[in-house]
Amino acid sequence: MRRDGCFGYHTQVCAVIGNPVAHSLSPAIHNAAFDELDLDFVYIACQVENVKDALAGMRAMHSFRGLSITIPHKIEAMKHVDEIAEVDRTIGSINTVVNERGQLFGLSTDGPGALKALVDAEVDMDRKNILLLGAGGAARAISFTLARNFKLGELSILDVNKTMLEQLTADLKAGTEAPVKSELLTEDSLKAAMKRADAIIHCTPIGMHPKEDASLIPRELFRPGQVVFDIVYTPLETKLLGEAKACGLKVISGVEMFINQAVLQFERFTGVDAPVEVMRRVVLERLRT
Ligand code: NAP
Repeated sequence: MRRDGCFGYHTQVCAVIGNPVAHSLSPAIHNAAFDELDLDFVYIACQVENVKDALAGMRAMHSFRGLSITIPHKIEAMKHVDEIAEVDRTIGSINTVVNERGQLFGLSTDGPGALKALVDAEVDMDRKNILLLGAGGAARAISFTLARNFKLGELSILDVNKTMLEQLTADLKAGTEAPVKSELLTEDSLKAAMKRADAIIHCTPIGMHPKEDASLIPRELFRPGQVVFDIVYTPLETKLLGEAKACGLKVISGVEMFINQAVLQFERFTGVDAPVEVMRRVVLERLRT
């Protein structure tokens, strides 16, 4: 955002579109970054019911530079852009749209954001057994990214939604070489998968604000040496992460993925390196209040 607060013909507009978006942290994080670098950009939050019309509007307005796409539009948005990165076409959802003079390019920064969180935490996934809890949009992005970047031991996926589970399993088997094993989530399947898992990645909304007093994994199932990554980031420390930490396990917070995906979006929108520490500070300040 320009420090003089003057927006005009040259100002590049970005927005998060979704429904609801009132509590999105994205305007705060991106505007702080624009401000830090004195860029002539501004970022707003737009509640959108019809994603097709929203993207048509973006295409018509060349100063509408970038969109972050959130629930429930990540899949539908794919139908209304002009080009999609090959990897994201396979994953089946996008969280970013960049407007190149009326040509809309869609991509996802969720998978790379999660991958960077794991790499930064020095977790080596090669030949490790991964347990993925959830088979929704974020789980799809993360599982494809892991399968393409590591030679995994076993990729075990559990979910209560049979249709999503079967679809993700079939797509991973067709599109990657990951040794996928999926089962409906039950007490027994969870217990068995936890015995084999080196790293657990939690991708369901369980434990998310306001239902913070919930965790999918009973603490007695944790084993020494396991790594637990919870992609839920409200609260900053979920019950799952608190209990895993208390058991002496290495934990990774979903806020790392959130910051990373926003940094990657910022760099696509502006073409310059993101002020990562500023973005991190803004997110943490907002989540701690
Ligand atoms: P999604 O597409 O709705 O997928 C969630 C999956 O979890 C669905 O398959 C859902 O099944 C399943 N599920 C829901 N309740 C469950 C339960 N009680 N037990 C077991 N499985 C359950 O959502 P998503 O977009 O993947 O997001 C999942 C979570 O990740 C959300 O909390 C979101 O805020 C978070 N997230 C974080 C980041 C980040 O940057 N850190 C990025 C993306 C998402 P049904 O379809 O049957 O409900």
